Amino acid sequence: MQPKIIIHGGFFSESHTNQEVKKAKQDALSEIVKDAYVFLKTHTALETVVYAVSLLEDCELFNAGIGSQIQSDGKIRLSAGLMDGTTQKFSGVINIEDVKNPIQIADKLLAYDDRVLSGSGALDFARHNGFEYYNPETPQRREEYEKKLNESIRLGTVGCVALDQHGNLAAATSTGGKGFEIPCRVSDSATVAGNYANPFAGISCTGVGEDIVSGALAVKIVTRVTDGSSLKNATDKSFEELKPYEGFAGVIGISAKGEVYHADSHPYMVWASYDTEFAVFD
Ligand code: ASP
Repeated sequence: MQPKIIIHGGFFSESHTNQEVKKAKQDALSEIVKDAYVFLKTHTALETVVYAVSLLEDCELFNAGIGSQIQSDGKIRLSAGLMDGTTQKFSGVINIEDVKNPIQIADKLLAYDDRVLSGSGALDFARHNGFEYYNPETPQRREEYEKKLNESIRLGTVGCVALDQHGNLAAATSTGGKGFEIPCRVSDSATVAGNYANPFAGISCTGVGEDIVSGALAVKIVTRVTDGSSLKNATDKSFEELKPYEGFAGVIGISAKGEVYHADSHPYMVWASYDTEFAVFD
C-alpha cells in the first residue's frame, strides 16, 4: 500500500496581514511533512502520527506544545488526543501543565485501561512515567497575553493523519487551546469530536472546540466513510451541518482507500500532505 500522510498547523488568523509569518508556518509544515513521510515508510501509522505531532509541538510557530496559548489566568494547559484506527483505542490528556510533548503522554496512555486523564492526574501520570518538567511558554506568547492581543480568536492547533504501508490508519491532535479561555475549559482535541480513526478513515480537527464538539465532527465524518461515503462527501456533508450555527472548523483526513482530503469553514488554515508527491497549502 502507498503510505500517505497529511498534517495541519491549525488556522492562522494573521495570514492575511502577515505574509512573513504565514510563509514561516508553511515552510515548517513542508519540512515536518517530508521528515514524517520518510519516518512513515519504516514505521506504523500510529508511531508516525505521534512522531509528526511531536515535531509540530516542538515548533514554536504553532499553538501546541512549545508556543502554546496562555489561558486567562496566565497558565498554559495542553491537550492532546491520539487514536489508533486498527485497535480503535483512543487516549488523551486534557489541560496538562508543564510538559513538552502532551502527545507522547497520550501515546503512553494507550497501553492502560484508563486512557484519558486530565489536569493534576495527567501530570502525576506523566511524571511517574519519566516526562520531565518543561515550561512551554515562549516570550512571544507572553507578550501577546500581556498585550491582550488574543482577544480575537487566534487558532493554531496541530494534527496528523497517516496511512501506513499495511493499510493501518491513525490520527493525532495537540493544542494549547483557544487562548484567554476560562481556566480548565476543555478543548475538542482530546475528544472523539476533534480526533478519530478506525479501519476506514482518520480525521484531525482544528477550529473552535465548542463548534467541533457540537458537530461531533471527526467521529461523524469517519462514521459516514465507514457507511460507504467517499471521504470528500462525508466531510462536505458534515461541514454543511455546521452552517446553521456558523461552526468554525477545519479538518484533515485520509481514508483506507487512500483518499486524502482537507476542508475548512473559514480560510487561512495551514496544512501539508505527502504521498507520491508533496503538497502544501493554506
Ligand atoms: N480546537 C482548539 C480548541 O478549541 C483550538 C484550535 O484548533 O486552534 O481548543
